[in-house]
Amino acid sequence: MIIAIDGPAAAGKGTLARALAERLNLAYLDTGLLYRATGWAVLRAGGDPADPAAAEAAARALSADALDNPDLRGEEAGAAASKVAAIPAVRAALLDFQRAFAAAPPPGRDGAVLDGRDIGTVVCPEAEYKLFVTARLETRAHRRFLELRDKGVDVIESRVLHDMVDRDARDSSRSVAPLVPAANAFVLDTSDLGATDALAAALAYVHQRQGRAGEAPADPDTDDDVS
Ligand code: C5P
Repeated sequence: MIIAIDGPAAAGKGTLARALAERLNLAYLDTGLLYRATGWAVLRAGGDPADPAAAEAAARALSADALDNPDLRGEEAGAAASKVAAIPAVRAALLDFQRAFAAAPPPGRDGAVLDGRDIGTVVCPEAEYKLFVTARLETRAHRRFLELRDKGVDVIESRVLHDMVDRDARDSSRSVAPLVPAANAFVLDTSDLGATDALAAALAYVHQRQGRAGEAPADPDTDDDVS
């Protein structure tokens, strides 16, 4: 079982992915962390995350250890991530790892859930379950503001909103793997939903599709659609 979850920043993808992983015994990969670690490595080396050569080298040198770093959760790493993520060679370098994880999750798991921006469209276009998790811009910025404040980071909400507009624009307008819902994705707007309700809606979608998978294929002779 592969569940692909895409959507903009702070829409609730990570919370939902973790909850689905726990409920359905799936391995979870937060693919944003790969881009964050790449952007962070370039920054730490004194480079510019928008520099294709530096970013590609950092993506190719990425190790699993580099993902275990609390600094990656910060806004600086997020902004650097969305710059390296617009570089095709970086995306290509990170693709195999993501696909391998989806194809062969750790032993004992019944599949994998991956969240990011292009999981349903590029990384796992064959996934049986695709969700596009979104929420109003102001709601997402407010959530991110509260999250940062809880961590003790001194931020102003208007700044968080401004940065989020920039990041949304970069992620949606880039030429490679832009943020768009996959054609057959279930769109889940979490603006007015808590984590429990979002999980319930996602599980209802999964169960509905599982039910459909068990149905016999439609008989072409009785198909109404003759166009
Ligand atoms: O999801 P998160 O906010 O951690 O992602 C950080 C950045 O990494 C995103 O803004 C996006 O530019 C990039 N990203 C991506 N494709 C993914 C996951 C993340 O381009 N699958």
